[in-house]
Amino acid sequence: MIQKLDLNLAVFRDDLYPSLGGGNKGRKMDYIGKTILCDQYDSIITTGGIQSNHCRAVAIFAARHKLRCTFVLHGDKERYNSESGNAKVIRLSGAKIVFAKEPSDISILMDHAMDDYSNSGFNPYYIWGGGHTMEGGLAYIEAIKVLKDYTVSENWHPDYIFLASGTGSTQAGIMAGLDKFDFHNTSVIGISVGRNSAHAENVVQEFYNELCSKYNIKNNMRKAIVLDEYLCGGYAKSNYELDSLSLNSIKDFGFILDTTYSGKAFFGMQKFIKENKLKGRILFWHTGGTFNFLAK
Ligand SMILES: *Cc1c(COP(=O)(O)O)cnc(C)c1O
Repeated sequence: MIQKLDLNLAVFRDDLYPSLGGGNKGRKMDYIGKTILCDQYDSIITTGGIQSNHCRAVAIFAARHKLRCTFVLHGDKERYNSESGNAKVIRLSGAKIVFAKEPSDISILMDHAMDDYSNSGFNPYYIWGGGHTMEGGLAYIEAIKVLKDYTVSENWHPDYIFLASGTGSTQAGIMAGLDKFDFHNTSVIGISVGRNSAHAENVVQEFYNELCSKYNIKNNMRKAIVLDEYLCGGYAKSNYELDSLSLNSIKDFGFILDTTYSGKAFFGMQKFIKENKLKGRILFWHTGGTFNFLAK
C-alpha cells in the first residue's frame, strides 16, 4: 500500500506487509520460504541480533509450517530474555536458540547447527543473516510491480526513493526492480543504518548486478548510493533529534518510525532534502521496525 503524505511525498507502507509480522523481512521471508517449502526442507538455521526482524519473520514462518528452527543470536542474553518486540516473538516461537559470544563465532555455530540437523536425519536450510539472499532480493524486484501499478493509476512517478539500508538486499532489489519495470528517471538513495558508505555501496552495487544477471533484467548501470552521514553514532544508536522524530511519528505522520531503521532513514531523508534543497517527487520506502519501536 502506498500512502500520500503530500503532493510530493508518498510512503510505501511495507511496515504493513501482511504476513510474518510485516516489514521488509516479512516480504523477503515469503520469497525465501517458497524455496524452502518447494524443495522440502524441514529445518532452518539463521542468525541475527536479539531484536532481529529477520529472525522474527523466520520464527513465525517456521512455526506456521511446523519446521524446526535454530537461531544463532548475538547480543545481550539478559536483554533478550526480558525485552518485548522481536525478542518476545522469537522466545515464544519454540525455536532453538544458541548465543554467540563473539561475532566471529556466528558462522561456526551456524555450521554446527547445520551438522546437528543433518546428523539427526533432517534436511536443514541455511539463511544468511537479514535474509540477504537472491530470493530476498527478488521479493523487492517484484514489489516494484506494486509501485508501477500505483504510478499508472495515480499518475505519480517518484524522482527519488529513500529507504533504510542495512545488508543492502532491499535496496539492490528495488534498483533491479526499477530497471525491470522501466523507471528510468527514479534514483534510489539508501540511508545507512550501520555501515560506512564505501562498504555499503560496494555490497549494494554487487548485489544489484547479481540480481540483474540472475533474473535476466536489462541492467541500466545504476550506481549504488548509500549515505552514512545520518548514522547518529552507529547501528541502533540514536540521538535527541532522532528520538523526538520517532516519539512524534504517530502524532505527526500517522505511522510508526523506530530509531534503528525506518526512523533513521526518514531522519536522514529529511536532512538530505533540506541540505541539498532537493526538488521533485519523493517516495519513502517504509521498511518496518514496529517491533523495534515496541521492544522496550
Ligand atoms: C533489516 C531491515 C532494514 C534493512 O534492510 P536490508 O535489506 O538489510 O538493507 C531496514 N528496515 C528494517 C525495519 C529492517 O528490519
